[in-house]
Amino acid sequence: MSLSSRLQRFSEPETLRMAKMGRELRAKGFDVIDLSLGEPDFDTPEHIKEAAKKAVDENWSHYPPVAGYPDLREAVCTKLKRDNNLDYKPENILVSTGAKQSIANLIMALVDTGDEVIIPTPYWVSYSEIVKMSEGVPVMIRTSAASGYKVTAAEVEAAITPKTKLFMFSSPCNPTGAVYTKEELSALADVFRKHPQVYIMSDEIYEYINYVGKHESIAQFDDIKDRVIIINGLSKGFAMTGYRLGFIAGAPEIVKACEKIQGQITSGANAVTQRAAIVALTTDLAPSKAMVKEFAERKKVIMARLAEIPGITCNEPDGAFYVFPDISSYFGKSDGTTTVNNSDELCFYILENAHVTTVTGKAFGEDKCIRIAYTNSLSKIEEGMARIKAVLAKLK
Ligand code: PMP
Repeated sequence: MSLSSRLQRFSEPETLRMAKMGRELRAKGFDVIDLSLGEPDFDTPEHIKEAAKKAVDENWSHYPPVAGYPDLREAVCTKLKRDNNLDYKPENILVSTGAKQSIANLIMALVDTGDEVIIPTPYWVSYSEIVKMSEGVPVMIRTSAASGYKVTAAEVEAAITPKTKLFMFSSPCNPTGAVYTKEELSALADVFRKHPQVYIMSDEIYEYINYVGKHESIAQFDDIKDRVIIINGLSKGFAMTGYRLGFIAGAPEIVKACEKIQGQITSGANAVTQRAAIVALTTDLAPSKAMVKEFAERKKVIMARLAEIPGITCNEPDGAFYVFPDISSYFGKSDGTTTVNNSDELCFYILENAHVTTVTGKAFGEDKCIRIAYTNSLSKIEEGMARIKAVLAKLK
């Protein structure tokens, strides 16, 4: 077989690989608890499901416009004004099949071979891999628990070179749950103001899953707004991962470039989903708020359980639905048969012995940690954490 060299440049998503292994173990009859998946375990709110059913009945079954239905692009603008006080027009919006496609379109539209893309680390798994797929060069800035896993303006300034094309980050962050404040974003904006060749991808898909108050977007700083591309979507905040809807908000030239790419690769996003998305984005956020309240409750429990495990330290996340504990004190330890040397091995140790799926920190560029998602019921979280504690106790 002769496959392209492109395939050698990047790896498959570690998050999906772990979930697949969990499914395989479950198929063999094991009681596997899933704490690996990056999706709400809640159902899509009723009024949004109704809108999707209505769209089917009304025969929204034809090819939609590549950029998205005009009234959906309008609805995205309404949302951006309502939630973020940002002014955009439909020409600033492109709707895609999930935020993942929005990101892939954007990178393909901006990044040429050899262009540098600055990525604060830990980062969401796909950032570095999509950059590599596009022959860009990921430039990581490693952050630490001490800085709340947030990059500082000085660190970004030091990483910028004449080859820097793009800075990409998420707030709230997957995997750390870090949320940037307005002051921190303002300091970053000061740096970008000095470097007009740098675009900024602001991934805000966890916007609603925020435990500290108001979501802040770096697009609020007017003089860099033209170079900011907001990424957002319905997957997390509306429990609609399977519907596959993401969008960008950015300068019309960038939107057109992404539309050109999307027009050759997938065409417009699913028509039924788009109709449901209009309702999601323009109606009551009460179901999303109720979901976040439940996540906040689970976060409290999982933080308490982590604190009871010797040798683990963990920052309290301000957003998203993950904890990202430092488990590196277990490296080099053994249960008499197996020695655990890194985050990959610790995840597999937990999966094999506790039958709990988590994700290796290595996938996010931080080998000292693992990611545990609290996208499961409180009782499963309690049991999963108890099992993790029991198997880690065997490592001496
Ligand atoms: N950005 C981040 C930070 C994510 O965690 C995810 C999903 N895990 C996405 C983008 C993509 O979301 P989707 O394609 O489901 O819209």
